[in-house]
Amino acid sequence: MAANGLPARASAGTHTLSQRYLSTRGEDNDFSFEDVVLKGLASDGGLYIPEEVPKATDWQQWKDLSFNDLAYEVMSLYISPSEIPPADLKDIIARSYSTFRSAETTPLVHLKDNLWLLELFHGPTFAFKDVALQFLGNLFEYFLIRKNEGKTGTDRHHLTVVGATSGDTGSAAIYGLRGKKDVSVFILHPKGRVSPIQEAQMTTVLDSNVHNLAVTGTFDDCQDIVKVLFADPEINKTHNLGAVNSINWARILAQIVYYFYSYFSLAKSNPSFSVGDKVRFVVPTGNFGDVLAGYFAYRMGLPVDKFVVATNENDILDRFFKTGRYEKKPMITAAPAATGGEDAGVKETLSPAMDILVSSNFERLLWFLAYEFAETAGMDDEWNKKQAGQEVTQWLKDLKTKGGFGPVYQDVISSARRSFESERVSDAQTVDTIKGFYNNLQYVLDPHSAVGVTASERSIARSDSKLPHISLSTAHPAKFAGAVELALKEEPSFNFTEKVLPAEFVGLDKREKRLTEVENDWQKVRDIVRNLVDEELKA
Ligand SMILES: *Cc1c(COP(=O)(O)O)cnc(C)c1O
Repeated sequence: MAANGLPARASAGTHTLSQRYLSTRGEDNDFSFEDVVLKGLASDGGLYIPEEVPKATDWQQWKDLSFNDLAYEVMSLYISPSEIPPADLKDIIARSYSTFRSAETTPLVHLKDNLWLLELFHGPTFAFKDVALQFLGNLFEYFLIRKNEGKTGTDRHHLTVVGATSGDTGSAAIYGLRGKKDVSVFILHPKGRVSPIQEAQMTTVLDSNVHNLAVTGTFDDCQDIVKVLFADPEINKTHNLGAVNSINWARILAQIVYYFYSYFSLAKSNPSFSVGDKVRFVVPTGNFGDVLAGYFAYRMGLPVDKFVVATNENDILDRFFKTGRYEKKPMITAAPAATGGEDAGVKETLSPAMDILVSSNFERLLWFLAYEFAETAGMDDEWNKKQAGQEVTQWLKDLKTKGGFGPVYQDVISSARRSFESERVSDAQTVDTIKGFYNNLQYVLDPHSAVGVTASERSIARSDSKLPHISLSTAHPAKFAGAVELALKEEPSFNFTEKVLPAEFVGLDKREKRLTEVENDWQKVRDIVRNLVDEELKA
């Protein structure tokens, strides 16, 4: 194989020449990467996936690449050079990761024995969502600059990003989009219900295109308002709405990179591990975006033994991998359609970024499971894809109307279990793990990362092989001060300010803030969005 750059592109054959995207519900296909990024959700309600997952046949040659060069190799298999020329893609990547505080972008830390921690929190907002949202912000900007070349005034294409957050997504989206031309960003958060540090992170960004809306309601109310706005013909007539939530394909794409990168970090730092050997990845999971990116890396060729999906007490995914049933509420086999499980609430836990009722990105895995099942019938690929789309549509319909579906066919759950295991971790176990790792290793875990590490320890104890485990660390402990202090308050040597608090957070709460309070009423939110975008465009 030849030197860097060329071989990966050449060996992936036709995929790099034109990578197109289809919807998981089968009604929509043949989309470009740009369409997929700007639209977010397919018009049939499905999520976009690549028509072919590219095989990275010479991935082993990527071992010594820098994070950015590796990101380029991975991403160029999914983005046609005719859409984003190589030099431009390299530039977008370089700008996206120049904001990270670690030279390695996502460093791998050895905790003990066969357990490693992949620190994903060295971006501007101290959570792993920066890896994807720094990239997405620059992509939006890139596409808009291109659309607006030579245009002035009202001819310019203006994007209005609207999103709801319970904390992490909002701050990462704001830091990804602040100061970007031709984009306004509106982030709705439930007033008084996000942690003080998260509120301060969002509201102290004073760029004129950033708008924080504090809604008098819950996170679910905020999400409902966003959904209604996306479906509202009036605002869609005058504004191009853009989505930054984790269903956006570009977010998954950016996250594939660190699975390869951490695998190579392991090989470089550990003489007994060679490129080609298998690892386990353990992923603290909510909406299934992070672990799904790992699954793409695996389908591209990365040697992964299993992904361990780690959930908190909101355990719909853990129940699926154990029972084959995907249900909002456990055991609602005979639930009346009228209730549809809608009243089964989310449980508030110490790892709030994983507090979900259903995982939006799980639909993408379901498509692959249905596709593999269809393949066993021996028909052509077009038929297999059609079948997969129909199966997913039916499952999602049952989820909506009956609150769940399954058990799925034995072959489907078996194929899921070939690549995945799952663990459910309680708040009490999360606290114990934070304590244990502080006392034994002086390492302070945030509660989400602690859910993953707890699951890692179970997997290590269970499997007789000595496979290396890479456990993903999704947030810096300072972001979740409440849970960390709860776990460590009785440790005599522990002092939050000294051991955890980063310089960037000191005094953040005293800085100037900008936010707009709004009632829990979607029409009022719509008026505010319109007025503020108008003001921005006039300025
Ligand atoms: C978003 C988030 C998660 C969950 O990631 P998914 O991609 O939704 O599964 C886990 N931990 C933290 C800190 C997060 O912000």
